[in-house]
Amino acid sequence: MPIQTKLTQYRIWCRHAAKWLAIRGGLELLSLASRFHLLPQNNYKGVIFTLHHVRPGSDFSFEPNSYLSVTPQFLEATIASLQKKGWIAAHVDDLPRLVNDPENKNRYMAFTLDDGYRDNVDYALPVFARHNIPFTIFITSGFTDRSRTMWWITLEELLRKTDHLTLDLDGGEQSFRTRTNLEKRAAFSLVSDQFDVNNEDAFVSALNKAACRAGIDPVSIVERETLDEAALRDLSAIPLVRLGAHTVSHVNLARTDPARLASEIKRSGDLIETLTGDRPKSFAYPYGGKRAAGGREFDAVAQAGYDAAVTTCPGLLAAGDGTRPTALPRISLNGLYQNTRCVEGLLTGIPFRSRGREINPVSED
Ligand SMILES: [Zn+2]
Repeated sequence: MPIQTKLTQYRIWCRHAAKWLAIRGGLELLSLASRFHLLPQNNYKGVIFTLHHVRPGSDFSFEPNSYLSVTPQFLEATIASLQKKGWIAAHVDDLPRLVNDPENKNRYMAFTLDDGYRDNVDYALPVFARHNIPFTIFITSGFTDRSRTMWWITLEELLRKTDHLTLDLDGGEQSFRTRTNLEKRAAFSLVSDQFDVNNEDAFVSALNKAACRAGIDPVSIVERETLDEAALRDLSAIPLVRLGAHTVSHVNLARTDPARLASEIKRSGDLIETLTGDRPKSFAYPYGGKRAAGGREFDAVAQAGYDAAVTTCPGLLAAGDGTRPTALPRISLNGLYQNTRCVEGLLTGIPFRSRGREINPVSED
């Protein structure tokens, strides 16, 4: 039986719409207050941006992962806006040193792109090159060698194609009616929630089986979406580009045992070293929020020799703020908020002030 009622579907839609309106409105207000110098001075010296896809908008009416995509125009507008305000671009692994140098009064921005999408080369690279902006792409080695699939895109394509979805998950078989966009959106939300309570490998496998039954090849999605070894080798020869590690299987590291934790961190770096000849200096935690990376993971990444590692916990960097180099916060350039005023609102730092509370306005975690 389909588990989501019409009421559940509307509730999910309303919750998302209300959240979007509240965040958008709040950020616009902060931007306005900042422009009129109504906010107290802050001492932030560093910001790290999270990006995933950079590509033109699509015509799909059902696009649950749209928050992961920004257009090249928005990226360019953001860069121009920050450069105008005096922010200087730097590589993410250089940021802790630059920000914590008491003699250095500059403000620095670092751009990072997770997962290694092909559109990073097609659309982001030309924008970064035009503005001479260094950037880092975090590579999941299992995507590069096509041994791991991307559940969130597999699920999107599966729901777009089917009118009914059956998944064999830890709790047993679950069915979802997926005829309308409202039903598809609700199903995406409900299935994504299952990700947190299921064995992750089994969850990915169940989705892959459902995709194959529907005539969708999950491996071909990875081939279509992500850079292969030859493309990464070419990319690494470009001086503006650095490659960082992003695990082997894009697993939530907080849910792994010690052996797998160490292996995911080390082996993803090994692939990059094999391709480029250089050991990567930076690392990004998959999903990256508090439920995906904590003290144990920060220690493990430091012990593996990385200089810097990024979370998706939102925040800015200030000199002497005690932020560990392997627990750096980031700000998401989110596809649902493609407006430079929203970025200005985030850069006030006010949305992140209440430490300890889950304020994660435009993150993907
Ligand atoms: Zn990722």
